[in-house]
Amino acid sequence: MNFPQYELQTACLVVGGGPAGYGAAVAASSRGAQVILAERHGFLGGMGSAAGLGCYLNHRGADRDLSDGVYQELVQALRRQGATYHDDYSQADFFEPEWCKRLMEQRLLRAGVRLLYHCLFEQVERDGQGWRVTFLAKGGRVVVRCGYLVDATGDADVCTAAGVTVTHGRRSDGKAQPMTMVVQLGGFDPAAWARADGRMVGDGSFAMEGDCFATAIAAARAAGHWTIPRTEIAMFWSMPSDPTRITINGTRINGLSACNPLDVTAAEVEGRRQAQEILHFFRHYVPGGSDVYLLQTGPQVGVRESRRIAGRAVLSEEDVRAGRRPPDAVVTCSYPIDVHHPDGAGTQFEKVTQDHAYGIPWECLLPIGVENLVAAGRCISATHEAAGSFRVMPTCMGLGEAAGTAVDLAQAEGVPLHAITGERIRRAMDARKAALVVTDAGNRS
Ligand SMILES: Cc1cc2nc3c(=O)[nH]c(=O)nc-3n(C[C@H](O)[C@H](O)[C@H](O)COP(=O)(O)OP(=O)(O)OC[C@H]3O[C@@H](n4cnc5c(N)ncnc54)[C@H](O)[C@@H]3O)c2cc1C
Repeated sequence: MNFPQYELQTACLVVGGGPAGYGAAVAASSRGAQVILAERHGFLGGMGSAAGLGCYLNHRGADRDLSDGVYQELVQALRRQGATYHDDYSQADFFEPEWCKRLMEQRLLRAGVRLLYHCLFEQVERDGQGWRVTFLAKGGRVVVRCGYLVDATGDADVCTAAGVTVTHGRRSDGKAQPMTMVVQLGGFDPAAWARADGRMVGDGSFAMEGDCFATAIAAARAAGHWTIPRTEIAMFWSMPSDPTRITINGTRINGLSACNPLDVTAAEVEGRRQAQEILHFFRHYVPGGSDVYLLQTGPQVGVRESRRIAGRAVLSEEDVRAGRRPPDAVVTCSYPIDVHHPDGAGTQFEKVTQDHAYGIPWECLLPIGVENLVAAGRCISATHEAAGSFRVMPTCMGLGEAAGTAVDLAQAEGVPLHAITGERIRRAMDARKAALVVTDAGNRS
């Protein structure tokens, strides 16, 4: 029996429903253009929901909120549901992934975006000035013809299949930052934890600490209870509606590629083994952890880095460190270079100054030699170290918003994407942000 083939047509197709894909779809549909967003999972949010993260790292520059309109609108919507809290110290907006899935989905449906869930990108080919893209889905294939195509897969899957030159991981040997299976524990007692060593409790109830537990981990390792290649772990993600539910960024799976199906399977298996070790560690070595239970591992292993496109410009670590802000910058970021070492246990965390920020040029999103295809999010053109900085979700959402804004402008004028300048994209994004402040000011805290 042959499975059926479903044929669809649209002005813009966004592949990937993570922060970047969401930002792109919101912006591309803002003047009513037809947009389809295709996603391999059955929900939006990318690593935030698929890996179960629950923490938007939104670092400020010179005490200014650098995030863009689509992100700010989402945080306001989360706030209205009581599904987020802000922590000034870590400069993070913590959120409930389940609310995030729902609010993102409703926002896109209201804008008229057509969602295609459980659609895994298969191939892409030229179709006149546009593209013909095929997805594998349960019960058939879905074929989408589009004028403009946004690759927001995080792994540059679409660009790779379109013949764009891509790199993987760091320049020296192609190794990428490790994958991490995020672990959610229930039954934690933040008050007992805080009492133990005068620890910090955010907003009066939330346990939070960045890289911590070094002494306890050393003791667990000496006792044969810890094999994970990390000397510290992060536990600062209590969930807004239940402070006893904590999220741990503590596993580390080195040496495997997120773009190799055999490696990804091995990473899921190893991640779950390490999750049990984390559970044991909390029960026996962490104050307030004696009654914890394993609530959930993320629906998929977390991927920090894989392929990036070779774009018309490349963002380097020198650009980041020097705080360069070229005129065609579409997004500004101030998050430090945060690279979990591809081998071993170390992490490079490099904050230049409190006021430091840099701009990401539009041309980093445009692949060399291909028209009407744009990359957004963590797979844009950059070095391994630079990517260690802009990979955070608010910035990736901003990069998606920039790509979608370019599509919106190009579609309205009937021109190719590269005819739109970074300056125009930025002006349109500034206008969206300003409008949000005026129309929704009452919801800001
Ligand atoms: C363990 C870990 C901890 C992190 N901690 C934080 C943190 O605390 N705060 C923060 O802000 N950031 C954090 N990050 C970084 C951040 O989560 C990612 O860099 C960010 O989500 C990237 O956004 P994106 O939209 O580019 O890609 P992704 O979030 O990876 O989204 C890509 C989307 O495309 C879909 N997709 C992929 N391939 C296909 C395909 N072939 N067909 C169809 N759909 C496809 C995926 O299912 C996914 O929904 C962390 C990352 C990890 C792994």
